[in-house]
Amino acid sequence: MAAGVATWMPFARAAAVGWLPLAQKTMPKPPVDKKSRSDEILFVNVSGLRFQTWKNTLDRYPDTLLGSSEKEFFYNEETQEYFFDRDPEMFRHILNFFRTGKLHYPRHECIQAFEEELAFYGIIPEIIGDCCMEEYRDRKKENQERLAEDTEAENAGDAPLPPDATLRERLWRAFENPHTSTMALVFYYVTGFFIAVSVIANVVETVPCRPLKGSIKDLPCGEKFSVGFSCLDTACVLIFSFEYLMRLYAAPSRCDFVRSVMSVIDVVAILPFYIGLVMPENEEVSGAFVTLRVFRVFRIFKFSRHSQGLRILGCTLQACASELGFLLFSLTMAVIIFATVMFYAEKGTKGTTFSSIPASFWYTIVTMTTLG
Ligand SMILES: [Zn+2]
Repeated sequence: MAAGVATWMPFARAAAVGWLPLAQKTMPKPPVDKKSRSDEILFVNVSGLRFQTWKNTLDRYPDTLLGSSEKEFFYNEETQEYFFDRDPEMFRHILNFFRTGKLHYPRHECIQAFEEELAFYGIIPEIIGDCCMEEYRDRKKENQERLAEDTEAENAGDAPLPPDATLRERLWRAFENPHTSTMALVFYYVTGFFIAVSVIANVVETVPCRPLKGSIKDLPCGEKFSVGFSCLDTACVLIFSFEYLMRLYAAPSRCDFVRSVMSVIDVVAILPFYIGLVMPENEEVSGAFVTLRVFRVFRIFKFSRHSQGLRILGCTLQACASELGFLLFSLTMAVIIFATVMFYAEKGTKGTTFSSIPASFWYTIVTMTTLG
């Protein structure tokens, strides 16, 4: 025993200086008896795969399952080990966390399975290391979006409505998914037809017709057959108004519905007609009214309810709005720079069309957008 103490004198000095961990690594293990050592090896069996670790390693995080006394619940007296019926692959990462204090996200694992595993061992996912945090967040967001999509599809999907569904619920289902009933399908095609008719009428109105006998001037068709066109317009607006009111009635949340993009398009498409009804026939305001008729062209966006592709296009534009915004911003910068250069280069020249910087904008915009 005395010899043993003599041998370990340098070791004790090393501990006092403070480089014990390094010394431990390079030196042969000391022949210390079990009682004097403060640490002991624990055996952890996860679905048949055995892990060994120091007790101190696990005790570092007393808030977790392995660090607390709760793990005794899983202790197997026969085999003298802790047994967990969990995924052994993922346990490697969890044990690594106890060893190094850093949690890494295994990229090939499903995020939900990983989170469940963390929850089982009582580890919060917020402590994932910076190296893996971005990946983890991306995957989590992706997963949440997918789940939300699935539930949305389930809600709007072909799942049959409960037999005690109210009229409102049935109506909303018919609007959202026209393939559920014949009536809904008919309504879907009728509205689609009237959208097409109103858009075509809007265009045809402006085509010059053959002049009436006796008059010299070419009249646009809209004025020549004004009664016919206004009847058609009224019919379309009535159908659209009816559709809008029905949707408003059926919407699960009317507030959300009124604020949705599709609903705003609906309102903008029919509003000019109603404004025209209440507006007095007056020369001064009729100019403003004619401008309002421009909004009728927004009816074309009503088609997006009938076309999946158009809706996807809208979502795509929305998703890359910031990139598009940056593109516009950089284009504006270039336009201003080149217009300024153009203006000062041409300054003083007689008969120049670049009379001011804004006047030079047109030249630069056209040049940049057509020449690239
Ligand atoms: Zn990492």
